[in-house]
Amino acid sequence: MTEHHAHPTEICAICGKSKPARQMLPASVVRPAISDMIHDAVPAWGPDGRICVSCLNRYRTDFVRRELEKERGGMGTLLAGVPGVPAGKIVILGAGVVGANAARIAVGSGARVFALDRSVDALRRIESEFGARVVTVHSSRDTIEQHLLSADLVIGAVLVPGAAAPRLVSRALLARMKPGAALVDVAIDQGGCFETSRPTTHADPTYVVDGVVHYCVANMPGAVPRTSTYALGNATLPFVLALADAGWHQALAADPQLRNGLNLARGKVTHPAVAQALGLEYTPPESLL
Ligand SMILES: [Zn+2]
Repeated sequence: MTEHHAHPTEICAICGKSKPARQMLPASVVRPAISDMIHDAVPAWGPDGRICVSCLNRYRTDFVRRELEKERGGMGTLLAGVPGVPAGKIVILGAGVVGANAARIAVGSGARVFALDRSVDALRRIESEFGARVVTVHSSRDTIEQHLLSADLVIGAVLVPGAAAPRLVSRALLARMKPGAALVDVAIDQGGCFETSRPTTHADPTYVVDGVVHYCVANMPGAVPRTSTYALGNATLPFVLALADAGWHQALAADPQLRNGLNLARGKVTHPAVAQALGLEYTPPESLL
């Protein structure tokens, strides 16, 4: 290979090769987890060090491989399948807003998608949006069991506003699922809809019970903080302004939507689902305003 001496070169401290200076990067652009790996391999390399692009890419690849290896227990199914190998099966429990969003992603993955709900209206909305790409199923103990036993991925999207999520999947049923299958419990903030669900964090999102991987991160929207903060802000700011302008008493008296969100007032439980979940007496919010 010809050297172009007109261009400045630099010796990479990692591979020891002479590299064009424009292919050398300072340690400050390397993410900490990767610079730790480089430092482990080459102790002399520190915060002032530089590294060539091809060395950095090698460490980046190693880093990704290590991260993937951390996710132990999965069955290694490509949901979309490949020619001659069937696609995976995704089962969505609950066909409301969360379930419909899950269906949108699931359809995009190329998997076979099934949505279960007790509400015929909810199933009809899924059918009109997705047609034959999502199979709608009336939810019952029998149909949940039938579809879970052949599922590769189950998304628990059953949310009852204010109330504890119904426990749809028992430990006994879990034990009969395909080993390596995965559960995502979107209802975890309401207690979860699988008996074996317990809240996890983005830092340590999964655990395995009976060979089934559980993903139960509380506050899942926190994975995309910018989008979720804007979305939450857009949805809630009008209510905040109403409360600030009129005071809570008058604002709630004027707006039934805001009133529906009232959980507790003057020592009483003012939300029917919360009262039921906690076994306490329900007091209509109107009577306290
Ligand atoms: Zn190098």
